[in-house]
Amino acid sequence: MIDTIPNLFSNAQMQLDRAAKLLSLDPEVHAALREPQRELHVRFPVRMDNGKARMFEGFRVQYNDARGPAKGGIRFHPQENIDTIRALAAWMTWKTAVVDIPLGGGKGGVVCDPKTLSPSELEGLSRAFIDSIRNFIGPDRDIPAPDVYTNPQIMAWMVDEYEKLSGGSAPGVITGKPLALGGSRGRHDATARGCVYCVREAAKHLGMDMRGATTAIQGFGNAGSYGAILSQELLGSRIIVVSDASGGSYNPKGMDPRQLVEHKQRTRTVVVFPGAAEISNERILELAVDVLWPAALENVLTRRNAPCVKAKIIAEAANGPTTPEADDILRSRGIFVIPDFLCNSGGVTVSYFEWVQNQTGDYWDEDEVYRRLDKKVTSAFWNVLKTAQRLNVDMRSAAYVISVQRVAEAMKLRGRI
Ligand code: NAD
Repeated sequence: MIDTIPNLFSNAQMQLDRAAKLLSLDPEVHAALREPQRELHVRFPVRMDNGKARMFEGFRVQYNDARGPAKGGIRFHPQENIDTIRALAAWMTWKTAVVDIPLGGGKGGVVCDPKTLSPSELEGLSRAFIDSIRNFIGPDRDIPAPDVYTNPQIMAWMVDEYEKLSGGSAPGVITGKPLALGGSRGRHDATARGCVYCVREAAKHLGMDMRGATTAIQGFGNAGSYGAILSQELLGSRIIVVSDASGGSYNPKGMDPRQLVEHKQRTRTVVVFPGAAEISNERILELAVDVLWPAALENVLTRRNAPCVKAKIIAEAANGPTTPEADDILRSRGIFVIPDFLCNSGGVTVSYFEWVQNQTGDYWDEDEVYRRLDKKVTSAFWNVLKTAQRLNVDMRSAAYVISVQRVAEAMKLRGRI
């Protein structure tokens, strides 16, 4: 049995359609929010180490900028495609709105396998992509950041390239930069920290004690590895399963996340961790745990496996991990899903803080960043939960209702619709 949803953007549109129905949304507003406002498709050559030029394809989508400049990451992935980028750009629009920061939504990507590129090829690719999209982005227009398989070093090359081309300092053009180039303290673990704050609040709501609560994390990259560390350090949770693209490690007694990070740095994977058994990425989703973090890629919770999920809370660190059909099943089974664009909003929130610090030249310490992040994410969580209770709907629909109303109001005030 396979899900009938053809692609990620269809999922995003279907979610919007559900919210539009709940809101009795003006059909003109609905039509305007169903498609991206602007998109750029580029093809560009990169000189490889063997001296030959190779062509690459990339995209940048500005889904909606009614509430402020478009904001969203850049992914480097071999299966990247325009529909995935459109969906992610739409979710960025709802994400910046749900945490109420004055930015819109965008996303970008390059079709490539960064694992097969040398550091100099990766630098060439990063710079060439910025050359191709430079007129489309800017601190007051569209602000990229890291995402899957991109990192602060790549952001450093990108901001350097943009500044060379524009002829002046412009640190606010890209967030997720290294600290030495105007990055924000607290950005490295912000996405995971926001997820942990959401899990903490969900547990309060559900009357669950998080000390010793079993946690499974699919995907051990930026979001997942810090998710493991912070779940243990801030909530006292027990990390019993982690995985990456090569497979997973399972130990019901719990594993030390910092040792897992060291193991992954040494062996390039979390698999074969001392004391742990191997487990597949599919089985992880069906384990009886208190909290399940899909923190890797999209469409992993489907109509096929949703009936077998036994977690009490699903913390969607990844974007789009749950298909609409799986969503219905999880809801009917009473599983509390913290929807992606609320759950992983910590990343863009601290990216926004970074942009504010770049624009003002006033830099904050880590405690200040964490305090502001906690306030933003926690208040967004309760706003969504109260809306869900008031309308008697699930958390995803409630988050959509809030975000769509905010974006629609900005569009109306601008006279766009
Ligand atoms: P990352 O590149 O740092 O890590 C991705 C991880 O997923 C890696 O460990 C990789 O091995 C693993 N992975 C890849 N394919 C897998 C598979 N089939 N099964 C299991 N694991 C697999 O990426 P990230 O930044 O941690 O992003 C992860 C998710 O979180 C994405 O959906 C991303 O859009 C979302 N997200 C990230 C941020 C951020 O600030 N990094 C912010 C918001 C949302």
